[in-house]
Amino acid sequence: MALILLGINLVMYSMSSGYRQYNFFLSLENSSTIVASAVLQQEKAEDYYAVKNSILQHLADEEEYILRINKDRSNIEFPASLPLNEAFYWEAIRNGIAKHYENGVHYVGLYKEHAAGEDGILVVSSARDVDGDAYRKRLKTTLALAFLAAVFVMTLTTVFFSKRMFGPMVKIIKKVNSINAFNLNDRLEKEHSLEEIGELQDTLNGMLQRIETAFKAQQDYVSNISHSLRTPLTIIAGEAEIALSQLEKEHKATYSLQMIMQETEKLKHIINVLLELARSENNTQANAWRVLRLDEVLESVKEIIYKMDSRYKLKIDFSNFPENDSMLYVSCNEHLLSLAICNIILNGFKYSDNQDVRLKLHAADNEVKLQVIDSGIGIAPSEQDKIFNPYYRGSNTFDYEGFGVGLPLAMKILEMHKGTIRVSSKVGKGTKMEVVLPAAYAQQHV
Ligand code: ADP
Repeated sequence: MALILLGINLVMYSMSSGYRQYNFFLSLENSSTIVASAVLQQEKAEDYYAVKNSILQHLADEEEYILRINKDRSNIEFPASLPLNEAFYWEAIRNGIAKHYENGVHYVGLYKEHAAGEDGILVVSSARDVDGDAYRKRLKTTLALAFLAAVFVMTLTTVFFSKRMFGPMVKIIKKVNSINAFNLNDRLEKEHSLEEIGELQDTLNGMLQRIETAFKAQQDYVSNISHSLRTPLTIIAGEAEIALSQLEKEHKATYSLQMIMQETEKLKHIINVLLELARSENNTQANAWRVLRLDEVLESVKEIIYKMDSRYKLKIDFSNFPENDSMLYVSCNEHLLSLAICNIILNGFKYSDNQDVRLKLHAADNEVKLQVIDSGIGIAPSEQDKIFNPYYRGSNTFDYEGFGVGLPLAMKILEMHKGTIRVSSKVGKGTKMEVVLPAAYAQQHV
């Protein structure tokens, strides 16, 4: 629009300026005609000049050159004092008139014969169009200001309307992007802007409703199966433990029974993860929340981990351990928090091919932090914010089994605890996952 407006302004300027110049040449031509007539009719010269003075305004820097041209037009000598070159005078003689503009000065050359075939007279008039120049300057300023004002108004209007149109769209896109397997019950809030946008929201909400229903059915299915699997698994683990306790240490079956117990522990962990995934947000028992020290929670995590594989080596680094133990208190659902921390630690072992994993506890600024550090394959920077999306798996994990649900579940659990997980990692070097929880000690002493 601005370009079109600029084009219109330029055309307007050039037309208006051209018209002004045309008029000025006309004035000069009239002036030359009167002068030529006055010269040709000597006896009435005074009258002509009187007419010229009364009708034509005095033109700025006006000058006139008069040249007699003999009948056969031979041997014309144009004096050096004439302002332009010969071509201009010859054109005037040939055509009766010639016009020229140079350095702000307008020139008109007019050739008149006394009577057909007789001696003639060439009048060259020149003047500056001072008013015209001022007019052009004013016009330029006015058009430039009008252009800027129009662009300003257009910009404001465009911003206003595009905000009205695209503002709700941007909100919708943001909201839809934030919906994942864990918050499928979220819906788009009704915007009262444009009817079509309202319809789009209804359509998307309808689709989310259908997805949620289908997802719920699948979750129920997973939940039922997991429940049914848990009981036989507990029995298997229990029986294996009893059998193990009745065998001599050197007995050949000892190893097999230990393996059965380890693998059932792993299965139990997977089933627990699946059950928690299938559980809806508000289905967590309120009475399971307690205030515990994070290092105590870690003890039970260690036990679960060692039960899964006795080769796992967890190294706890006490260098940042707070002097005051009570700084480590967190309000938590022990079962869920252990599950989340287990997932993170098991990943550390998995992606470092069972190398040692270091744990660091730290409490400061009303936060309790647990760092889980491994020296495994690492996570590419571009993937570090995606690994918390359900079912996302890193591009370097082809050789490792997994489903992409452990971390999203851990994050969901941490968020339920008003905490979070921070990642820092280098590909090929290792990964540090930091679990951050609000300190319950601090909350009690506010
Ligand atoms: P899974 O391990 O089953 O693939 P998770 O949800 O536990 O699923 O993890 C998601 C992704 O995060 C993994 O696929 C992997 O790319 C990356 N990841 C998580 N922890 C680590 C780690 N300690 N080292 C390297 N990559 C990791």
